[in-house]
Amino acid sequence: MEGSKLVGIIGTGDFGRALANRLLRCGYDVIMASRNPDLSRLISINPSLASVEVKTTKELLEDPNVEIVFLAIHSWNFESCLTPFKTQIQQKIFIDISNRERPSKTESNPERLVEAFPGLRVVKAFNTLSAYALESDTFGGAKQVLIASDDSTAREKISTLAREMGFTPIDYGVLRAARDLEAYPLTLMYGWGWPTLFCLCIFIGWNIVLCIAYVKFYMRSSHKFKWDHVPLAYVNKAVCLTAITLLALSYLPGCLAAFLQIINGTKYKRFPTWFDQWLKARKMIGLYALFFSVWHVAISGIYMSPGYLGSWFESTRVHFPENTSNFVYDFSVRMNLRGEGTISVGILALLMMSILGLSSLPSVGAVLNWREWRFVQSHLGYVTLFLVTAHVVIFALPGWMRDPTAMLLRSTFMCCVIPFIVLFMKLVLITPCIGGYLDKIRRGWERRKSHKVSGNQISLKYTNMSSSDSVDTFT
Ligand code: NAP
Repeated sequence: MEGSKLVGIIGTGDFGRALANRLLRCGYDVIMASRNPDLSRLISINPSLASVEVKTTKELLEDPNVEIVFLAIHSWNFESCLTPFKTQIQQKIFIDISNRERPSKTESNPERLVEAFPGLRVVKAFNTLSAYALESDTFGGAKQVLIASDDSTAREKISTLAREMGFTPIDYGVLRAARDLEAYPLTLMYGWGWPTLFCLCIFIGWNIVLCIAYVKFYMRSSHKFKWDHVPLAYVNKAVCLTAITLLALSYLPGCLAAFLQIINGTKYKRFPTWFDQWLKARKMIGLYALFFSVWHVAISGIYMSPGYLGSWFESTRVHFPENTSNFVYDFSVRMNLRGEGTISVGILALLMMSILGLSSLPSVGAVLNWREWRFVQSHLGYVTLFLVTAHVVIFALPGWMRDPTAMLLRSTFMCCVIPFIVLFMKLVLITPCIGGYLDKIRRGWERRKSHKVSGNQISLKYTNMSSSDSVDTFT
């Protein structure tokens, strides 16, 4: 950092102390301002702050060597804290790290600060980190510092400071963007809202389909419905059907997008908003597929026994006395080919899906180059979908063959329809002629450019790149 390695912090609370600690570790000198400037009190709370200087706010703001000052106090104290020093504060750059209780689309804390003190150089930064993230050294905490300010020089200085503190600065632009930065820590799982609702609807939908199937079956047969098996055996079926449907639905939009690009003859035509959102939600839908798959495997592992899955086990009969039929005892402990095949393919599919899930973590994705990431998310993803479909087909094929006419109404067949469609579309897309044509479009080639002339303005018809320009990969 150019110039002084001296930084001021107003406020000796949790965040102020964590900031001071981090700055000291990174080679900065720190002056903290407090209403009660007593170093021994600070050391008793945090012994590593022994080298900090503690002053009053007045002394800190009057110190000409301090250019950058963190406002580590709550925003409702900003005005009362700074009003007595209206002239001194104009020489400093203030970093507003405060958060709000409720997000606002019309104002932010630093904008109010500038309104109260016109000309004040304010930078919004560090508010998206926690005191814990500041304390943790190399891992375990968030690493990005989002920065917004109307003063580009101040923004650059704070970016350098953040970098020297071991963080990655992200320039968020002008101070107005502070509204988004203040909303960020208050948003619960950003972007997960409607994918969660969507996945829940799929799960509920499968439960309804299964309920109808069970009602029809038990009305026709002499068997009695056993409520005892609802918590595991019946739920497991809905969980399994949901997992495969979600995995297929996370890959379907990529194939549809490819076909749309081929039909449009360009990649520059914007997709409908709902479709764009679906493309963006592929990661979440895929992770929910992983969640349901793990749930399915856990339940299956628990009830894997001949009692539940008789058709998966070899049948052994013992006659008492020998060679008579007085008493016949059926027992089976070893699996047959159907059972072993279903489980083996299922386990492989789960492992592959776990790799997909892991690579969608930002920290893992960051160490993959584009080709590696695409290999995992696209190629491995389709292989996973194939294995998941094979898992269901191996399990259900004997039943389908026993009664082909009723096959279409079986839930096991219904859940394979979307995976079949997706795998078929992918097969078509990788054929040399169609794949080559698609590659050409994705490199920017356009089949036709129609120029619309309106007044004296000439505009290209296809100019809007979709926000989801990476349509062949799935997170
Ligand atoms: P805190 O522990 O309550 O500390 C606030 C400090 O502000 C107090 O220790 C006090 O320091 C000072 N203060 C209190 N009343 C004041 C007044 N009337 N005038 C001047 N100074 C006063 O809160 P915190 O957790 O450190 O949070 C501080 C700021 O950081 C908040 O705006 C918060 O939104 C933001 N933030 C905190 C975190 C976090 O993880 N804690 C994360 C992101 C952002 P003295 O007694 O030394 O004067």
